[in-house]
Amino acid sequence: MVQLPATASSSALETYEKCPRAYRYQYVERLQTAQSVPALTGDLFHGALEHLFEADPADRTMDLARTLIADQVDAAVADGRLAALEVTGTALENLREDLDQLLVGYFTLEDPTTIDVESVEEWFDLEMENVRFVGRLDRVDREGGGIVIVDYKTGKLPRDGYEDGAFAGLRRYAMLYEHKTGIAPKALRLHYPRFRVTLDRPIAPRSVVVFKQKAEAAWMQIVKAADADDFPKKPGPLCNWCDFQAFCPGEPPADFPRKSR
Ligand code: SF4
Repeated sequence: MVQLPATASSSALETYEKCPRAYRYQYVERLQTAQSVPALTGDLFHGALEHLFEADPADRTMDLARTLIADQVDAAVADGRLAALEVTGTALENLREDLDQLLVGYFTLEDPTTIDVESVEEWFDLEMENVRFVGRLDRVDREGGGIVIVDYKTGKLPRDGYEDGAFAGLRRYAMLYEHKTGIAPKALRLHYPRFRVTLDRPIAPRSVVVFKQKAEAAWMQIVKAADADDFPKKPGPLCNWCDFQAFCPGEPPADFPRKSR
């Protein structure tokens, strides 16, 4: 029987859904996944917006946002995250330009001075069967007498017909929010600043209960896989970007970087 981690997250459940073997490598064996420029771009953008929404509403201007983005990039230069990805010189200037375009796109989607924010980047958790489910909610807004759970996506838009799947993570966050506060959010919102698109999904009354049942069912699948030590590989296009492809489905090299416990 495989020892599972004490906590689960939305991204862990998504990893298992995409490929059980990749879940085993990443969350059971705690193998380190490599950082990428798109992922770091998302981190820097989220970091800047986190600080933007910590400011007083009237101060959440484009000028402040540009300063915060510059601070994020400078920090990533100073701590070596960008050099590790060989983002220097022209590539660094391109990244700054890309982040600026994301900001310009974001400001076409909403006016942050008008947003009534309840929390930013706050951790929530929920005890489930043998596991504590945790999630860090990018932003929770008060809007029209209800609560809206908000996230920003700096990558691609979901393909036509697959928009609903893009909300899987936010549905789990709605579950966490309701568990902590006793208040069911009324809607979920995804901003795609690169494409100047916002997707909204209303939440019907009582559907948060269903989100919880689905999360519990997803976790029980992982528990069963651990009991049988059966985390089959699920080959597909994602293998081309998988950090574990070189040895999948076998054992990783002993010196493969691992996350600390
Ligand atoms: S290489 Fe493919 S099958 Fe193997 S763990 Fe990665 S995604 Fe799964």
